[in-house]
Amino acid sequence: MGFKEKFATPSRSRVRTGSDYLQTTPDHPSVIRIMDEEPSVCWSHYIPKGHTTTGKPVNNGKGGSIICPGPSVCPVCQWNNEQTDDKKKLRSRRQFAVNVLDKTPVVKCEECGEEHYEVNDEYPTVCTNPECGADISELSPEPRNKVQIFMKGKSIADQIVDIESEFGPVTDRDLKLTTRGKGTETRMRCYPQKEEAIDYVDVLGEDWEEQKYDVENVVKPLEIEQIRRIFNGEDFFDVVKG
Ligand SMILES: [Zn+2]
Ligand SMILES: [Zn+2]
Repeated sequence: MGFKEKFATPSRSRVRTGSDYLQTTPDHPSVIRIMDEEPSVCWSHYIPKGHTTTGKPVNNGKGGSIICPGPSVCPVCQWNNEQTDDKKKLRSRRQFAVNVLDKTPVVKCEECGEEHYEVNDEYPTVCTNPECGADISELSPEPRNKVQIFMKGKSIADQIVDIESEFGPVTDRDLKLTTRGKGTETRMRCYPQKEEAIDYVDVLGEDWEEQKYDVENVVKPLEIEQIRRIFNGEDFFDVVKG
C-alpha cells in the first residue's frame, strides 16, 4: 500500500459506534450482501451488562465484547485463570467480521431522510421523526444500500459455510436474515436468495471501496492497558479516545 492509499484509508482510527454495525431485530428480516470474500476473525470475550470483576462493573456497567489479545497477555484470560468456579469464567468465542451491503427495504422520508423499517408487516404512514411528521404513505420501500459491519459468531459462520458449500461463493447472492428472541437467547437464520450479480458502482457510487470498513482493524484487540482499564470499570469511549 502506497502513501496515498494508506493515508486515505477510511475509518482506521475512528471510534466505531453501534450505527456502523448491522442492526438486526425480531421486528423485521434483514437483507444483506456480503462484500468480502474472506472474513476477518478473532476471539472475543462477551461480558454481560453489570458484570463486576475487580470492584467496579466492566465498561462502566455496560459490559460488551472485549477482543482477546491472546491468553498469555489478556487481562480477561488472566482473571479467568484465577477463578475456581468454571461457571464464572468469561470464555472467549470465535467471531468474524465482514463488510456487508445492507439491502433491507426501508421507506426513507423525503423531508428529513429518516429511515423507516417494516414493523408487524407494515411500514409507517407518517414520518416518526418528532420534528418532521411528514406524510410518507405514498412512498415505496427501497433497499437501504448502506455499507455496514456484520460481526457474528459460530452459529452464523456455520450457516454461511453451509450456504457456500451448497451454492458457491456467498458474495454472489443476497442473504435474508431472520432473528428470533432477544439478548443471549437470540437465534438468527440465514436464507440464501437467488444468485444475482451486483454492480457496486451503480449502487454506491465510484467511491464504493472507500465506503467499506477496515474489518481487520475491527477485529484487532485494543492495547493490553486499555483492556485492563475497561475491565476494571472505565468507560470504553473514554479509554479509546485517550
Ligand atoms: Zn482473553
Ligand atoms: Zn421525516
